[in-house]
Amino acid sequence: MAKLTREAVLAALSTVQDPDLHKDLVALGMIQDLEVGDDGAVTGRIVLTTPACPMKERIQREATEAVAAVDGVSQINFTMDAVVAKPTTPQGDRLPGVKNIIGVGAGKGGVGKSTVSVNLAVALARTGAAVGLLDADIYGPSVPMMLGVASARPAVDEDRKLIPIEAHGIRFMSMGLLVPADEAVVWRGPMIGRAVQQFVEDVAWGDLDYLIVDLPPGTGDVVLSLSQAIPMSGAVVVATPQDVAFADVTRAVRMFGMLKIDILGLVENMAWFHCPDNGKDYPIFGQSRAPDHCAAMGVELLCRLPIDLAVSPAADSGRPIAVDAPDSEQTKLYADLAGAVASRQEILNHKRAKRSELKDFFRVVPS
Ligand code: ADP
Repeated sequence: MAKLTREAVLAALSTVQDPDLHKDLVALGMIQDLEVGDDGAVTGRIVLTTPACPMKERIQREATEAVAAVDGVSQINFTMDAVVAKPTTPQGDRLPGVKNIIGVGAGKGGVGKSTVSVNLAVALARTGAAVGLLDADIYGPSVPMMLGVASARPAVDEDRKLIPIEAHGIRFMSMGLLVPADEAVVWRGPMIGRAVQQFVEDVAWGDLDYLIVDLPPGTGDVVLSLSQAIPMSGAVVVATPQDVAFADVTRAVRMFGMLKIDILGLVENMAWFHCPDNGKDYPIFGQSRAPDHCAAMGVELLCRLPIDLAVSPAADSGRPIAVDAPDSEQTKLYADLAGAVASRQEILNHKRAKRSELKDFFRVVPS
């Protein structure tokens, strides 16, 4: 029998593609610490670009199967790991330790934007990612209550930076500290833009894979200035099934487009109610046309969430549904949403990196 070589193992692994990035694992540099023993034992790490990758099991299985087919392999052990990439954003890099800043916006208030922000942050943290949450909804800062930290005040470190409050596995900071809600109504866009930029930089976030930003609703000058002040790598928009909610969210999508912030996709919240008594689903806010609306806007429909009677009481008690009911359908949908958001961001980052490589290439190759 031919001796097993490292080259043969790498050749097998280069037949396995990352389904999101459409490139093989070896070319993507995802195979690390590969060891090929004389006894045919193969070990290594597969390093994904996000721990929330929904394709994790599939990639591990396909890599193991590909290597198992190589002559001379006696055993295989691939451990799964992840290092989140840091994209470049139009606003530049003002928060060096923070890799991806994802804004959560909505056309109007009351659609569940803060609920989605909080539970998305918790669901991302559950995958092992380092996650922060910034409550930037200065008009109705409900997140401190949802996290059960309404009376907590952040401490200041030796560099005079604010230390985020730890809650449910995420690092949290509220702009309510900068702008009390009753004063927020008189704040104007440019004023808040500068103050927010300073505020965000004055927080000791540490190293974060994802910072979720709960933005104010609408497309007024405050949210516009905020979106310019915070270097966002992507945005998620939230709407309820009504056509008017989609009309409003279209404006939000256009605003992010103007600011060159890529939309990762849309979450349709309160899409239906499942009646536990008769097992029927009721479209309380009307029959959803979310797929059509999303197609018209050129935005991906990331997730549809039902009305769940446990969501509000959980939030009011300071325990988001993803924490309070870990085995519920709603929590499962949030886990799927976390995977979808992370993989959309990963694809975008990959495309951006390729584009800047191409730019560099044309810069060095004389025409
Ligand atoms: P927004 O940030 O858009 O103003 P919130 O997140 O504060 O909206 O949500 C508004 C209300 O709706 C809250 O009481 C919240 O608990 C409730 N809510 C949000 N999503 C759901 C859902 N899927 N099922 C039931 N109640 C929900």
